[in-house]
Amino acid sequence: MMVVEDRDSELTQRDAAIESIATGLGVRAERGKKFAELTSLRVGGAIDWVLSPQTEEQAAKLVYELEQNGIAWRPLGSGSNVLADDGEHHYVIVSLKELKADPIFDANRVSISAGYSLPRLCVDAARQGLSGIEGLNGIPGTVGGALWMNAGAYGQEIGTVVETIRVARDGRVHEMPASEVQWNYRHTSFREGELLLGATLRLHPDDPNSIAERMEKAKSQRMTTQPHGTRSAGCFFKNAPSSPIGTGKMIDDLGMKGTRRGGAVVSPKHANFIVTEGEDAKAADALALAEEIRERVKREHGIDLEYEVELWSSK
Ligand SMILES: Cc1cc2nc3c(=O)[nH]c(=O)nc-3n(C[C@H](O)[C@H](O)[C@H](O)COP(=O)(O)OP(=O)(O)OC[C@H]3O[C@@H](n4cnc5c(N)ncnc54)[C@H](O)[C@@H]3O)c2cc1C
Repeated sequence: MMVVEDRDSELTQRDAAIESIATGLGVRAERGKKFAELTSLRVGGAIDWVLSPQTEEQAAKLVYELEQNGIAWRPLGSGSNVLADDGEHHYVIVSLKELKADPIFDANRVSISAGYSLPRLCVDAARQGLSGIEGLNGIPGTVGGALWMNAGAYGQEIGTVVETIRVARDGRVHEMPASEVQWNYRHTSFREGELLLGATLRLHPDDPNSIAERMEKAKSQRMTTQPHGTRSAGCFFKNAPSSPIGTGKMIDDLGMKGTRRGGAVVSPKHANFIVTEGEDAKAADALALAEEIRERVKREHGIDLEYEVELWSSK
């Protein structure tokens, strides 16, 4: 009983500190949200606080003050690559979705904040006659989310066009060269606790019509091979470097398309997509199904599939 009371009073003190920090910086603070509202899989439990800074400077100060007060936080963009469990998540979500000032184009370069929509940026760049990211058009996340995991599609990866990146350091916006970051397959050397605020991309000029054509081609390829209008987080697992067969094909060959666990289903269209269905779908359903896939692949192919989706625990 004593432990519960101590925890309650700790949370009350923390909540007062969060309120005061948010008010002081003029940052919108919301309570009572769930991951089910903030992620594309539409599942996941309650979040204590969602704080939404609107400028890079405000965001840098915000996370600095949270850290100074020992308050745990995590960044979230569009939530299109996160599976958060069904428990109560006792930390602050710093939502980057309001950090979405218009891109600034300067010759071949574009400076962009972390919360800007990646598909929108691809369209903007194409209109400016700038190539290098048109293949990323169908990735439904923010620029920050794409930078965090080096998002890629159709032979392009965002890391290859980043010139500099802006991160939060000691309450300020710090700009560093992209060469200080390791850009690997769906992974970078950014560490947890690093807040990405924006980047300058260096693109190359091309005919706007040719860029638009390539963008359309990638889009229609996506439409024919991936489920649309469904609740998913894209590919659940990475392709295994040791296997010449893509993970989707491997899962398909095991006959798992359409396999259901509660409100989670292996997409009949693309076996590396887990989709959720219905009001009662739980994160636990998606996780149970994902683990079943991993076990089958391990048993049949001896491969340990690595998650591409991020699993967030409330524990
Ligand atoms: C239908 C569909 C298709 C997809 N296709 C692809 C594809 O072709 N290629 C591909 O690479 N991905 C794909 N994805 C996955 C996903 O869209 C990408 O990973 C995207 O880049 C995630 O961006 P986000 O803003 O949604 O990030 P979130 O899901 O919000 O966050 C993902 C991770 O990034 C971190 N993060 C987000 N913003 C920041 C920031 N500003 N600073 C620090 N950390 C941050 C979060 O903390 C989290 O760890 C697809 C997803 C869906 C639903």
